Amino acid sequence: MLFHSTRGKDKDRDFSSILMQGLADDGGLFMPNYWPQVDLNEIKSKQSFVEVAKCIVPLFTSSSFSHQETLNILESTWHDFEHKDLVGIKNLNHVSVLELFHGPTAAFKDFGLQLAAAFFNKVLESEDKTAIVLGATSGDTGSAAIDACKNYNRIKSFIMLPNGNMSEVQQRQMSTIKSPNVYALRINGTFDDCQDLVKLAFKERDFLNKNQYLLAVNSINWTRIIGQICYYFYAYNQLHEKGKLSFSIPTGNFGNVFACYSAHKMGLPINKISVAVNNNDILHRFFQKNDYSKQSVHETISPSMDISVASNFERLIYDLFLDRNASVCAEMFDNFPTSPIDLNMSTWKKKEDLFSSSKVNDTDTTGMIEEVHRSNGYLLDPHTAVAAVEAFKLSDKKNHYVLLSTAHPAKFPKVYEELNIEIKSSPVALKDLFKKDEHLHTFDADYKKITNFIKLNN
Ligand SMILES: *Cc1c(COP(=O)(O)O)cnc(C)c1O
Repeated sequence: MLFHSTRGKDKDRDFSSILMQGLADDGGLFMPNYWPQVDLNEIKSKQSFVEVAKCIVPLFTSSSFSHQETLNILESTWHDFEHKDLVGIKNLNHVSVLELFHGPTAAFKDFGLQLAAAFFNKVLESEDKTAIVLGATSGDTGSAAIDACKNYNRIKSFIMLPNGNMSEVQQRQMSTIKSPNVYALRINGTFDDCQDLVKLAFKERDFLNKNQYLLAVNSINWTRIIGQICYYFYAYNQLHEKGKLSFSIPTGNFGNVFACYSAHKMGLPINKISVAVNNNDILHRFFQKNDYSKQSVHETISPSMDISVASNFERLIYDLFLDRNASVCAEMFDNFPTSPIDLNMSTWKKKEDLFSSSKVNDTDTTGMIEEVHRSNGYLLDPHTAVAAVEAFKLSDKKNHYVLLSTAHPAKFPKVYEELNIEIKSSPVALKDLFKKDEHLHTFDADYKKITNFIKLNN
């Protein structure tokens, strides 16, 4: 399997090279050259999540790793999960909750980032090189990236977080990790300032050692998507007796939804994919009225979905709407967000078979948390609650909904304090967070000072 860019200039690249590069040179996102097909009978017969993953991941890694090498990596990739089969499934009335928060950072991002980190490390070992991971975070990506990389001594991670702009649990998940190759950099500025610094760093690269990789861990990295495709097939493995499934997905950058769409293209029978957003509604506006235009970010109680544009959406435009016409895609996204994405009606209507969308404000989100808590004694995290509204409304015997639960409620204690709901069980990973020392390095949004620090510690 080789890969190419959605904007057409980067072609026929092998797995390792797109893993290590992240974004294509032409600004596009990498895509597999074709959709490999999965044997559903084989998926049905598997006994665990990792066994299911072994049917999926090698389909994408074959240009750089032998089948056996990939299987060996998968044996040890996902670690420190509290659930014996990594993913939990709870049935509430007629909805199945796919619990993806049993990993070490209590959000689904562990699935993609642990897989990416394991392959980063393999490439670095085989080329005898080192790497710097540099990222900006306002939520769960940073902690999952740090955790995934902390035990690989060829990788040093520097993660920038905006000062004061995230939940204290989320900040402490990054600042309390004690590892010599992890640095949490608190930036006096906004998330956008952090992102601008990361962008500049990827352009300048003036702090790297000779032959050193600079790795991107944001959600456009295709390997993160591969890790997520696996749990959609696992849902099928566990729930296929309920008929053709629908999935309701709390959505920000569209990585999780694109993984679901990819699984469908690889042969997974799906009725509907329900794209659920909070007040940051660019995707809802697109699916409802063909309006994909950037607006400013609103702060909500589901902060990991507070985005102004959905970085993975270009992949869907390219694959579904434009039938993989890269030159049209390049023209659209080279000019975005200055010009909104504008599809003609018949093209836009291609969404109808598979996609629906919903927008849920904070009041309705907490209402949903309270309702499910009252009637099922089950606590939804605020992100999951956004997607729960549609799942509970539409699920029935003929159309079974799977609700993706992307984080553990204990990550967002303030929400439950205000609702007077006690969080009864907390993941081990979060338990001692407030007893540990923080290791934060504070900087102004000053490129020279920050990169000097990286050089000093490189
Ligand atoms: C990142 C995140 C999301 C959004 O996922 P995307 O793949 O960016 O759409 C939703 N919920 C939680 C808890 C997250 O951390």
